Amino acid sequence: MTLIEPAADRHSTALAPDLRSLPERAARAWTERMAVRPRAGSTYAVTTESDSTYLVDIAQHSCSCPDNRIRGEHCKHLRRVAIEITARRVAPPGKERAICDACGTVTFVAADARTPHLCRNCRLETGDVVRDRETGDRLVVVDVTDTPAAEWIIEATGETVADYDTNGGYPVDDLVVLATYLSEAVRATDPREYAFPLSRLRRVEDAELVAP
Ligand SMILES: [Zn+2]
Ligand SMILES: [Zn+2]
Repeated sequence: MTLIEPAADRHSTALAPDLRSLPERAARAWTERMAVRPRAGSTYAVTTESDSTYLVDIAQHSCSCPDNRIRGEHCKHLRRVAIEITARRVAPPGKERAICDACGTVTFVAADARTPHLCRNCRLETGDVVRDRETGDRLVVVDVTDTPAAEWIIEATGETVADYDTNGGYPVDDLVVLATYLSEAVRATDPREYAFPLSRLRRVEDAELVAP
């Protein structure tokens, strides 16, 4: 079986446009030094090179600068906030910057999201079909816990998930995922749940599900 790893940062790059082809305001949105900080709701504080701070509301398409307020222009501050969100350097409205508990990359989670915080590559949800990297078996995720593999005791054997025989190759601080075997899940009314280190399981994409 060949494991195809997801591209590490397929959603985290943005290419700068050809600045010569942009109108002046748009070009300045890319090139000027500005600090963008998320505020409440859909608002962002943008501090410019000349140390002025303006309040941008990305949902309202408004900015407190004269360019927007008085002249009604789609100002460079508004554009810059959109650029920073698209490039995933600042959190989109309603989200917060967080570190993925599984792989350590920066991700954005709902402001009130419960732990664990997982990035898009690592995120598994109840009902996801996954493949065991060790055996190739397909399973259904029952729960993603926030307990590390080193602290989860397997009842049947009394050892931790991290110490379990075939889990040696996975980080001891991997979060424990509970899953049932797909073959059992469709047959049994009360299928048994097994505990896995998160990175041992790989989400099966929809296209793979229809393949044998
Ligand atoms: Zn502005
Ligand atoms: Zn991750």
